[in-house]
Amino acid sequence: MEDCIFCKIIKKEIPSDIVYEDEEIIAFKDIHPLAPIHILVVPKRHISSLAEMTEEDEKIIGKIYTKINKIADMQGVKEKGYRVIVNCGKDGGQEVMHLHFHLLAGTKLGQKIV
Ligand code: 5GP
Ligand code: ZN
Repeated sequence: MEDCIFCKIIKKEIPSDIVYEDEEIIAFKDIHPLAPIHILVVPKRHISSLAEMTEEDEKIIGKIYTKINKIADMQGVKEKGYRVIVNCGKDGGQEVMHLHFHLLAGTKLGQKIV
């Protein structure tokens, strides 16, 4: 099966603006930013959505939150604050079927959830 778009980014087959990377996680700037800082934090292992998460994935998802905090610090927004969003499935607005965490910051974000 053909790799998804984020797997291609992970393999560097598609260019992206990478802000953090280790053996398990990659973080790059969203191509259509919705805030001054909009970074996608992605496990390198292909998990299609939060709905596909298993107990095996608990460790990597915990690690992702630790790294989000580190990335927020690197971006200089840890103190001021930030928002993390995970869209899941059709009704959740997920467009790319490879689990990813949106890190949004750099302005006072709106209060609306929907
Ligand atoms: P979703 O709607 O699935 O939660 O979010 C997918 C996000 O991926 C969107 O915010 C979209 O702008 C971003 N995106 C889609 N394709 C690409 C790409 O090729 N490169 C980058 N950097 N972001 C992408
Ligand atoms: Zn993938």
